[in-house]
Amino acid sequence: MTALTPLPSPNPLTEPYWQAAHQRQLKLPRCEACTKFHFYPRSACPHCGCRNLSWHAVSGNGEVYSYTVVYRAPSKSFAPEVPYVVAVVALDEGPHLMTRLTQIAPDDVRIGLRVTVDFRRMDDETTLPLFRRAGWSL
Ligand SMILES: [Zn+2]
Repeated sequence: MTALTPLPSPNPLTEPYWQAAHQRQLKLPRCEACTKFHFYPRSACPHCGCRNLSWHAVSGNGEVYSYTVVYRAPSKSFAPEVPYVVAVVALDEGPHLMTRLTQIAPDDVRIGLRVTVDFRRMDDETTLPLFRRAGWSL
């Protein structure tokens, strides 16, 4: 990714997520009533409706639930990245998270592949939580 890559714009609901990512931690909102995690961040628990939510670190481990391979860059900034894999990762804690997979050839990706979070610092304010094959690192 280049400096021209579009970056997230945190809002009050998502800011804790991005702040944690910049500290190389994956944190998700958890309901204090039913104790279930959820993602994406929202103002009430999608499981029970409770508004008493707090942020907690999660393992960063999960498996590929679904994925697609992007061969045609959606903009010039992504052109050096193609082909790349956009995946929905089912985290061990339950929530599903849309992300990109790194350090893996698209042909090696499979449903159920174990993955772990991997952080890519983009600038002084933004770090993206991406995922790579579990147990592998370069
Ligand atoms: Zn709940």
